[in-house]
Amino acid sequence: MPELPEIQAHAERLDAAYAGTALERFVPIAFTALKTAVPAPDEAYGQELVFVGRRGKHLLLDFGAVTFVVHLMQGGRLKPDEKQAAKPRFGQARWRFADGRALLLTEAGSERKAGVWVVAGDPDVQVPLEGLGPDADTVDKATLERLLQEHPMRLHGFLRDQHILAGVGRLLANEICHRSRLSPFANTAKLDADDVNQLAEAVQACINEGLAFERGLDAMSSSADRPAHVHNRIGEPCTQCGQDTVRAVEYSRYTVAYCPTCQTGGKVLADNTTSKFLK
Ligand SMILES: [Zn+2]
Repeated sequence: MPELPEIQAHAERLDAAYAGTALERFVPIAFTALKTAVPAPDEAYGQELVFVGRRGKHLLLDFGAVTFVVHLMQGGRLKPDEKQAAKPRFGQARWRFADGRALLLTEAGSERKAGVWVVAGDPDVQVPLEGLGPDADTVDKATLERLLQEHPMRLHGFLRDQHILAGVGRLLANEICHRSRLSPFANTAKLDADDVNQLAEAVQACINEGLAFERGLDAMSSSADRPAHVHNRIGEPCTQCGQDTVRAVEYSRYTVAYCPTCQTGGKVLADNTTSKFLK
């Protein structure tokens, strides 16, 4: 799933290409694409795109009167639509601009989870953005420390919970834990001052690394190409300690990648369930 760096760089790309262009029409192609009935997308017709922004893992297309909030989920993409075909492959929705260009929301696969919300007023206090935690790239050490204390839980789950910290997904959670040399299963309330320092540094560093990579591209990367030291690197040598192998452990129905030497004092976590480790 695209995370904060990919969505941020894509928002910047779309903003550079489309800001200032008037919207002619919004066309839902799949009936599940538009998640809101009021206000109508029509309220943006004839309005110029003020800017394209990001909040958490959402793209925001701000037309002044209304904002389109777009969540790409796993397989969604929002791309220039050169063909403007009547029935585009994986097509979910299309924004047609007055200058003849268009943007197409596609979603590969059959899950149909990507969506578009039209909101008037401050999008931050409305569905689907209401209740999101602060964007991970804006959180300083003191705020992070407070959030950790307020939410005693496993570190990996904490990092991925959008209501606590917005924008971090599986890749960044794996990378942040590895870079800060903390176990993905560390209890957030039990981290000491050094741990919190390392964690705060790692959050910024991993996001910045992703952003630098993503800003150098013309289109959003695929997950396998993103810079990573443990995510998608299971079985490879650890680049940080140079002496261990990146391992996988199952956690809440997905795979966490980590280095035992860097993160768990050399302990290899049970790879089919965390239950033994948690006891
Ligand atoms: Zn290591």
